Amino acid sequence: MFDFQPISGLLASKTILVTGAGDGIGKEAALQFAKYGATVILLGKTVSKLEAVYDKIVKNGGPEPAIIPLDLQGATAQHYRDMANTIDTQFPSLDGVLHNASLLGHLEPLQQISEEDWNKVMQVNVNSQFFMTQALIPVLKKSNNASIVFTTSSVGLKGRAYWGSYSISKFATQGMMEVIADENENTSIRANCINPGGTRTNMRAQAFPGEDPETLKTPADIMPLYLYLMSDESKHETGKTFHAQPK
Ligand code: NDP
Repeated sequence: MFDFQPISGLLASKTILVTGAGDGIGKEAALQFAKYGATVILLGKTVSKLEAVYDKIVKNGGPEPAIIPLDLQGATAQHYRDMANTIDTQFPSLDGVLHNASLLGHLEPLQQISEEDWNKVMQVNVNSQFFMTQALIPVLKKSNNASIVFTTSSVGLKGRAYWGSYSISKFATQGMMEVIADENENTSIRANCINPGGTRTNMRAQAFPGEDPETLKTPADIMPLYLYLMSDESKHETGKTFHAQPK
């Protein structure tokens, strides 16, 4: 596992946006960021799940979070510009974005991928991240140290048969991170990717239905890397891909 020992108050006075904050890895990241002092903006599709995370953060005594209910499938560039304006006016700064939400799509041979399924995966996994980041960069530039974290996968580093649209979308994510990191080399914005490795979530169970979930790390197990990349401890890191579960 990635070795980092977070100290209490590590993320104090930071505001961090987490996409897909209602479930799986995004939920755990939101809870942990709040535990270490961040005000978390919970973005996701299913409002009841976001409300449950909100309640848990408040119950644990964390800073009051905010909820942005948004289906990345239908959102347009204008939605992201409006969202960026709202964040800019309602929070003292935006210091981090965790692009975590994504869609697995169907695992099938490339020739069988329908236009509809391809477009769905690209919309959620690539287009939404692109237009959201484009809209948020001016807000992030106001932070002393802003961290954009994208979520990749092993199949975004080496293509794999039958993982078609998902695998290709993660290569695009990787490219997006590298372009943003390079363009912002001399700014206060840094961009990196996390490859979580096999983690016990609904998406993993969908991809590997026969696997015993007990053999997998939990979202909580992989959090040290997420905390590191959102904290000022990583302010010198940019343009890199980090593995939460290095071999
Ligand atoms: P889950 O499926 O458990 O969670 C995905 C989250 O994304 C959910 O909160 C879901 O919201 C949200 N989401 C999906 N579609 C949309 C949408 N259209 N609009 C808004 N939110 C949406 O996945 P994981 O936690 O496993 O995955 C998190 C990230 O980690 C992903 O990027 C995944 O590719 C990556 N990853 C995961 C691995 C693993 O083993 N788990 C391995 C490698 C990479 P809702 O619940 O409301 O649908």
